[in-house]
Amino acid sequence: MSSYLSSVQLWCEEIQAFYHTSIQVFREHANPKELQDWEEKLAQLQQDLSSNTSLQDWQAYQQASELYTQLNNYLTETNHPQSTNQDRINNQVPIGGHTLPPLPYPYDALEPYIDQETMRLHHDKHHKSYVDGLNKAEKELQKARATNNFDLIKHWERELAFNGAGHYLHTIFWCVMSPQGGGQPSGDLMREIQRSFGGFEPFKKQFTEAANAVEGGGWAILVWSPRARRLEILQAEKHQNLSQWDVVPLLVLDVWEHAYYLKYQNERKKYIENWWNIVYWPEVEKRFEKAKQLKWQPY
Ligand code: MN
Repeated sequence: MSSYLSSVQLWCEEIQAFYHTSIQVFREHANPKELQDWEEKLAQLQQDLSSNTSLQDWQAYQQASELYTQLNNYLTETNHPQSTNQDRINNQVPIGGHTLPPLPYPYDALEPYIDQETMRLHHDKHHKSYVDGLNKAEKELQKARATNNFDLIKHWERELAFNGAGHYLHTIFWCVMSPQGGGQPSGDLMREIQRSFGGFEPFKKQFTEAANAVEGGGWAILVWSPRARRLEILQAEKHQNLSQWDVVPLLVLDVWEHAYYLKYQNERKKYIENWWNIVYWPEVEKRFEKAKQLKWQPY
């Protein structure tokens, strides 16, 4: 068997493992017949792979990719217009219930640009540790709320940000790369890149320079600003600085000294306590309703 086919085989095992760990979720989103068909197709592909048939590399990739995509589709509500309110609730990632998404291609699919060993280590070890760390932080914060003990709030908020940013960014990262990648975008995105940056080349140049100049660990990130209605390029050093990416702010409280010092001097606590009297919830609700419309596959 070619090394490519054996890496598709490993990919299939990963997809299968993911299927089994999340089987409850799939049962809620697909009917038994669909799931049975899916299982049979995967079993068939695995058999073809191990029995050394004349399966071509690209055929194996395509079949595995279809199975992967189908599984992901079961996680999105839009494919199931008949889904009930209960489904909506189940569509959430429960507290401490994040999972490692399988790679959308085999480990060596990005060779020679990114090597197989790096992908394996990066996905299986690094990304996995963010998932575990995020789950742990969420559960510890849940415990803090239940016991009303917030002694370790700084620590767990830091862990929540560090691991949450890591999990969300890596989940995006795997999917924005592909063996079929390269070239330039088209359509709306291309038009917006031209509008925001004056062309694809200036965009690519700024993104590259931003990535080169990240101090230490971090990311270069192309973002959409719903406020400016423009694209922007940002750097994220160490990817967190106490924030998660891929989230939408709903309610914010400014605790810079300039926000309260004239009246409260160093009594920040007092300022925060009083602030609750002026929070305008209808605006927060409005933001929440809008933000809720943006839906990604839960992981
Ligand atoms: Mn990484």
